[in-house]
Amino acid sequence: MRRSDRAITDPAELASVLASALVCRIGLCDGDQPYVVPMNYGIREGSVFLHSATEGRKIEILRRNPKVCLEFEKDVELVPAEAACSFSMKYRSVIASGKAVFLDGAEEKADGLNAIMLQVAGKEFEFPPQALERIVVIRIDLEECSGKHNRC
Ligand SMILES: Cc1cc2nc3c(=O)[nH]c(=O)nc-3n(C[C@H](O)[C@H](O)[C@H](O)COP(=O)(O)OP(=O)(O)OC[C@H]3O[C@@H](n4cnc5c(N)ncnc54)[C@H](O)[C@@H]3O)c2cc1C
Repeated sequence: MRRSDRAITDPAELASVLASALVCRIGLCDGDQPYVVPMNYGIREGSVFLHSATEGRKIEILRRNPKVCLEFEKDVELVPAEAACSFSMKYRSVIASGKAVFLDGAEEKADGLNAIMLQVAGKEFEFPPQALERIVVIRIDLEECSGKHNRC
């Protein structure tokens, strides 16, 4: 990282960004064409969980190429100034890579969905089997996780 003074080196701060953001951006490689999609997610023990309809562009890409890059951010705040060059942005962000794995079976899918529900709603739910059949649940074990913050 060029601005090493901004690197998040405390694993607890890195974990707190991942545990408290609501939305991640998932970067996919469609041949030589990048594709970025915002998604809700849940995190548990170093793995990110996503859910989706069974079809669509991102799912088609992921089935061909499971390699992804993920971005998360928290505490984003514009810091205005008199001069354009003095404007700044407060943030805490995390970038990680990993490989998407499609989860099989009702129990595994419900478990992944509950990681997402814990993140967005703070509690777990029961899922009817028919609802689980209509969706895919994806697990991404995070690799090469880096964090950066600008407190201005
Ligand atoms: C805050 C937020 C949270 C979301 N959470 C989830 C989630 O948890 N799970 C989930 O499956 N989806 C979520 N979505 C929707 C998601 O961003 C995609 O729109 C959706 O997953 C369909 O993606 P797809 O590749 O299958 O698109 P397709 O339906 O196949 O459409 C492909 C084309 O539509 C356009 N497109 C697709 N998505 C978007 C978009 N978000 N904005 C602008 N253009 C778009 C692009 O041009 C793309 O090439 C969320 C969106 C937002 C903004």
